[in-house]
Amino acid sequence: MKNIKLASIKDKKRSIIQVGKVRFGEGFVIIAGPCSVENEKQTLKVAEEVKAAGADMLRGGAFKPRTSPYSFQGLGLKGLKILEKARELTGLPVVSEVLDTRDVSWMCEYVDVLQIGTRNMQNFSLLKEAGKSNIPVLLKRGMYSTISEWLNCAEYILNEGNSQVILCERGIRTFETYTRNTLDLSAVPAIKELTHLPIIIDPAHATGRISLISPMSLASVASGAHGLIVEVHDHPEDALSDKDQAMTPDEFKTLSGKVRALQTFMEKSNLGGQE
Ligand code: PEP
Ligand code: MN
Repeated sequence: MKNIKLASIKDKKRSIIQVGKVRFGEGFVIIAGPCSVENEKQTLKVAEEVKAAGADMLRGGAFKPRTSPYSFQGLGLKGLKILEKARELTGLPVVSEVLDTRDVSWMCEYVDVLQIGTRNMQNFSLLKEAGKSNIPVLLKRGMYSTISEWLNCAEYILNEGNSQVILCERGIRTFETYTRNTLDLSAVPAIKELTHLPIIIDPAHATGRISLISPMSLASVASGAHGLIVEVHDHPEDALSDKDQAMTPDEFKTLSGKVRALQTFMEKSNLGGQE
């Protein structure tokens, strides 16, 4: 693939990206948490519940990229401080989205992984700034982007000296309207034959429907993805963002059990998978 030099698998070993005790690129990493950090009580409760249910990492948006300027925009610094507390309480490393180049360096003090969302995948200034930081970057696929464009964006980060990039397939826009996006699971084996970077799946933003998250999560394990990121809320009906795709802690617990069972089965049956 043209211009994919640092991200290319050619002559390189698969990357393992370490975040605390979590290793992306080995086994199957489960990230869970609210779409948005709404307040301390909600976030700490969800953090404890997802930890108890087997999550490896906590997610939570403090800066929210919303379609409407009148929708909840996130708590900003206050939200990051809540995430810091949640990490102290549970020991789970934290990933949160950065929207603005001006926030990259100071946000690294609060989070373990910087997320670059679908709407900013080709924000080249933001990619370069994240490339100058020394913490891992979770780079979501642009909803209108090809695999080649996505890998070129990873290349921007790598080219600034940050070798810790984790890719995330979160669905692309197609003519389908029943689902929020179309989950491109073929991106998993494609990415693995093109690059050494780990890839995880976001079935929540990909489908936008709670009923589809569990089947697509299991399909992610079977496809060989290195992990999953899902949204969990203590009261999904009251969520300030993405309430239709937020699982309850109990639903997440069931999901996490099924995912671990399939992962174990695949490993034991030599069905390939996460390597
Ligand atoms: C998110 O993870 O909260 C998010 C906004 O995701 P995406 O950028 O994939 O829409
Ligand atoms: Mn969301």
